[in-house]
Amino acid sequence: MSIRRPLIAGNWKMNGRVADGAWAQRFRDSLTANGTDILVCPPATLLHLFQGLFAGSPVALGAQDCSPEPDGAYTGDVSAGMLKDLGCSHVIVGHSERRDGHGEGDDLVRRKAGAALREGLTPIICIGEQLKDREAGIAIETVLAQLAGSLPEASADDVVIAYEPVWAIGTGRSAGPDEAQEMHAAIRAAWPGDGAGRLRILYGGSVKPENVAALMACPDIDGALVGGASLDPHVFARLVNLS
Ligand code: PGA
Repeated sequence: MSIRRPLIAGNWKMNGRVADGAWAQRFRDSLTANGTDILVCPPATLLHLFQGLFAGSPVALGAQDCSPEPDGAYTGDVSAGMLKDLGCSHVIVGHSERRDGHGEGDDLVRRKAGAALREGLTPIICIGEQLKDREAGIAIETVLAQLAGSLPEASADDVVIAYEPVWAIGTGRSAGPDEAQEMHAAIRAAWPGDGAGRLRILYGGSVKPENVAALMACPDIDGALVGGASLDPHVFARLVNLS
């Protein structure tokens, strides 16, 4: 059991239409207050709609990516300031689907996290090893190298780390609690400077209502970043209620 306030974040990825606005009411109606911080990260196209739908509720709004640059001539990009303007409090950076699918490296992730911090957003910085790294016995050193490269100058209170083993994302095969706890403890121990005890570290990769409680029972797991299981309002509410 973590001593930090838990955070459960839903990552909708590239899913959702304006007609899915009814999701918000169904989700809100299914929640029981349990002291967990709740975040939903829909695609950028739905942020404005969801800002209105979550107003006055305990559900915070996050984005899935941001530009490392402030506003300007960057066609197709969305700045951290624009996300702030839409009511976001958090932004995911360095998700493996962006690292692998868009060639984003640690340096770019660090700059994106820095841009978020400058706008007063909390970056959720994603790190995680590939299956080949785990099989080669270098999972921890791989993840700690990503952490070191992806972390801007920041206080432990202002960022969230998400450990997401790539082999567990969208596969239905979650890391076991012991495997995840070992990595979370290593990440916390590697935190530069003070405040490591306050750093929130989320686990991501096939989290569902059936496995969330066992993961959350681990001392260094402070919450979850949830993909597929966040798309159904009742399933996601059940997951939050069990955390
Ligand atoms: P998943 O995705 O829960 O569908 O495995 C997690 C994520 O990619 O953040």
